Amino acid sequence: MTFAASLGFSGTLSRADEPAKLTDGLRPLALQPLPLGSIKPAGWLQKQLRIQANGLSGHLDEFWPDLKDSAWIGGNREGWERGPYWLDGVVPLGYLLDDAKLKEKVKRWMDYILEHQHDDGWLGPRRSKEERERPQMDPWPLFVLFKAVLQYEEATKDERVLPAIQKCLKRIEKLLDEKPLDSWGKSRAADFVWCIHRLYDRTGDKALLDLAAKVHRQGYDWSKHFENFPFTDKTTGKDGQISHGVNTGMALKQPGVWFRQSKNPGNRDAVFTAFKMLDKYHGQATGMFSCDEHLAGRNPSQGTELCTVVETMFSLEVLLSILGDPELADRLERITFNALPATFKPDMCAHQYDQQCNQVVCKLADERVYVDNGPDSNLFGLEPNYGCCTANMHQGWPKFTSHLWMRTPDDGLAVISYAPCTVNTHVRGKPVRIEVRTDYPFDESARITIHTKEKIRFPIYLRFPEGTKFMSERLGPGEKPVGHEHFQGKWDVRDRAWEDGVTMTLKFDWLIKVRRGYHDSVAIERGPLVYALKVGTDWKLIKGKPPFADWEVYPTTPWNYALRLDLEHPDKSVTFTKRAVSDRPFSPEGAPVQAKVKGRRVPEWKIVKNAAGPLPESPVASKEPDEELTLIPYGCTSLRVTEFPLLKSP
Ligand SMILES: [Zn+2]
Repeated sequence: MTFAASLGFSGTLSRADEPAKLTDGLRPLALQPLPLGSIKPAGWLQKQLRIQANGLSGHLDEFWPDLKDSAWIGGNREGWERGPYWLDGVVPLGYLLDDAKLKEKVKRWMDYILEHQHDDGWLGPRRSKEERERPQMDPWPLFVLFKAVLQYEEATKDERVLPAIQKCLKRIEKLLDEKPLDSWGKSRAADFVWCIHRLYDRTGDKALLDLAAKVHRQGYDWSKHFENFPFTDKTTGKDGQISHGVNTGMALKQPGVWFRQSKNPGNRDAVFTAFKMLDKYHGQATGMFSCDEHLAGRNPSQGTELCTVVETMFSLEVLLSILGDPELADRLERITFNALPATFKPDMCAHQYDQQCNQVVCKLADERVYVDNGPDSNLFGLEPNYGCCTANMHQGWPKFTSHLWMRTPDDGLAVISYAPCTVNTHVRGKPVRIEVRTDYPFDESARITIHTKEKIRFPIYLRFPEGTKFMSERLGPGEKPVGHEHFQGKWDVRDRAWEDGVTMTLKFDWLIKVRRGYHDSVAIERGPLVYALKVGTDWKLIKGKPPFADWEVYPTTPWNYALRLDLEHPDKSVTFTKRAVSDRPFSPEGAPVQAKVKGRRVPEWKIVKNAAGPLPESPVASKEPDEELTLIPYGCTSLRVTEFPLLKSP
């Protein structure tokens, strides 16, 4: 399904919530994100954001010196990326929850930053005295700041924001002529281009496109990089910026962002080449790629950094709006519902730097498997390994929430993910409220209710999720199938007149899928959830005072199993049971779904270098007795095996 041709562009300042427009300088967005605040979380997602606000996200600024005494608000501590990182997640968190305390905190930061703009336009502190190794004016942290303030403007309509950014851009442009982008700014230039494009969409100021072109030219060419992808195995770290995991996650958006301006289809294609290359050489069962700190191959004992998880999610959200390809939403869901929650302590009071797909112990480790991450990288703590994730992790859930639905060019709405929410927007100039009531992805049904003052005709684009056999719809009495497997990766449009109170009930018939991985291993998926072995855990406090402390996690039950699976008919080997979704769904005790499968221990598979040792090549033989194993969603586990050896049939 391609979207209808778009409307003309007015050239004047537009509201952030107007339909996507055709500009003569940029390719129109395939899907227009709704301004922050239009989509509010509901159900389990609302509880999850509340857990986040009660955890590190809502309290970090009260005690973490790099925020508490940040140079961004006049203090004497870090004045580089950490303040903007935190804001980039806490701005949407505060407004999505409508949390007065968080909004007040955000306002204090924004007021300080906007009121202390330098005369030459620079925003925020220049280099502080302790940061001699950094350039006096580093544009990189401003890329992050712009992302945060653009969201703030959407939520508050604060009239200071856009002029402040425009003034700052003039200063940066001058700086780029004196000193072209290098280091992080060069690798992450696409985030800056994206911000400039956002401003262009609002103002129509052509000079912005010249600046975007200059930034793009000075940035690293990731399109070319992915087309001639050099890293086909675990890297060594010696390639610096270009094998760096977070840079790679952020770079995924680059070919797509530039496609809007270049209009070169090769850029669009490079997006899909990039995912293909990463899956092939570094892919993990969660839809992420390994990076600990650099790309680390397919071995499920390698780590994946939390910053890379949230940045890859954001890249996918940006790419969805530019390209509108629903396959990107499949990956976004897979990462969000699996890799994101798993790497936090269930109360979100501690996080890891690196998570592992096969994570059988989390401890301070002198001997380790990572490319070059430190001994504390897989601990759950305040700032294990390095504090970047501590500052940057907050954007994951909130930005996912604010991208659950987007506007289509024909002034309809598209469902990016069926997670529970309420959408408040205008369609065809009339107010519309949409409620999505569901336990998705823990449940295979979703009820979508439309509220309008009068009957309005507009299209709703339904996504047909990956791994679904049938999708059925019930509008009144009686159910009808609305899609089946060949809808995979496509939109299924419902263009009709909607009356107040109409409820569309969707049911997804999910396939049980076996994904083959490293050493021909097997991972079980059903719908957007990946399932992993539930390993008993013993949490050992090693530093700090709870709740914001550092923990090691030791296994209390065996983990070295091979699975007995009928690969042709996995439903004959795996059975699923559901229960009510608890207040803390992403925890081992709260897991809303369980799977049972048979397996046998593989005694020679042991811990090596404080991680699950070399994964036996499948299929493996075992003389041990059959056992019934319990798998739970990956996102509910703290210790787990996800990519298992396949048991040789007797
Ligand atoms: Zn990080």
